[in-house]
Amino acid sequence: MTRPFNFSAGPAVLPDTVLAQAASEMLDWHGSGMSVMEMSHRGKHFTQICDEAEADLRELMKVPADYAVLFMQGGGLAENAIVPMNLIATKPSQEADFLITGSWSSKSFKEAQRYGDIKVAATSADAARIGDRDQAAFTYVPDASTWKVRPDASYLHLCSNETIDGVEFLDWPDLAALGAPDVPLVVDASSHILSRPIDINRVGVLFGGAQKNIGPAGLTIVIARRDLLGKALPVCPSAFDYSIVDKNDSRYNTPPTYSIYIAGLVFKWLKAQGGVEGIEAANRAKADLLYGYLDASAFYRNAVHPAVRSRMNVPFYLNNDALNADFLKGADEAGLLQLKGHKSVGGMRASIYNAMPLAGVQALVDYLKHFEQRHG
Ligand code: PMP
Repeated sequence: MTRPFNFSAGPAVLPDTVLAQAASEMLDWHGSGMSVMEMSHRGKHFTQICDEAEADLRELMKVPADYAVLFMQGGGLAENAIVPMNLIATKPSQEADFLITGSWSSKSFKEAQRYGDIKVAATSADAARIGDRDQAAFTYVPDASTWKVRPDASYLHLCSNETIDGVEFLDWPDLAALGAPDVPLVVDASSHILSRPIDINRVGVLFGGAQKNIGPAGLTIVIARRDLLGKALPVCPSAFDYSIVDKNDSRYNTPPTYSIYIAGLVFKWLKAQGGVEGIEAANRAKADLLYGYLDASAFYRNAVHPAVRSRMNVPFYLNNDALNADFLKGADEAGLLQLKGHKSVGGMRASIYNAMPLAGVQALVDYLKHFEQRHG
């Protein structure tokens, strides 16, 4: 069976082979007589599934032993509170600084206000507005020389891939050069985790919801430097206290067992693609193809600065908004699903995560061309 190409920003496309394997194991996982959904999270079968998923994730992301890998619930939005509850008291200042480069880091900044002295290190919210939408358009990352990071801050938060605005950090900032060598980085990597190699050693805490590059919604991955753990605020629910979750091997409460199982299958699929190095090459090729077409066209536009364009989420606009409904209807008919942009910014968005094949992006470019020829 061939399926249409699915450009959803999340929950998003998963590899066909993973879904087929899950289907074949649905009623009886490896002769256990049970579906993974029906197993105790403390039994030997699920323990094997969970341990293997963690080991594969550690291998893929080269996570050193002094970092905890946690499988939690709550998603990215819950982490906006869980991170400050866990980290703000790691220093007496109880300060944290935020880089605001789009909708998700804006949300993180607002939520954190409840837990400490929270300030903006830099923001690109002043960028030129696009069209008539009544919202700042985030189209760049402010130059690092302008960031104000307090040297005693408990952490600096950034969203390394802004899913709505299509802005991606391709490298981590050098905090020593900013006069803040002891400030750990907190990274919301929800929408590009595992899409390319990253240096986890330069990060204090990295988190991401699974429902884009990893698996079903319900699972949140947290990777945390262990020396930062154990100082959660008293208000922090114990099920969200990283050190408690770590000590209990992600099974303090019942974790999202089926999501962890699918994530484990995706990790094996990714290893077979050559790991994050292999998938990065594929992701680059897909992004180059799509941006290349958009840039050459006078009919569509993407406003993000080329140096920080996301390889995962490509927001784009038709110059004539009146054609949006026709565009989406035709795309659906052509087997190109879920291209509508986020409601806060309008336009279109093609999310081209790891599981989107190059053929899907080629089919999208063919459709863009065809639509432009008919309406341009
Ligand atoms: N951060 C980023 C970068 C996201 O893309 C999203 C979801 N689109 C979230 C946080 C929020 O995730 P959730 O809905 O799982 O809470």
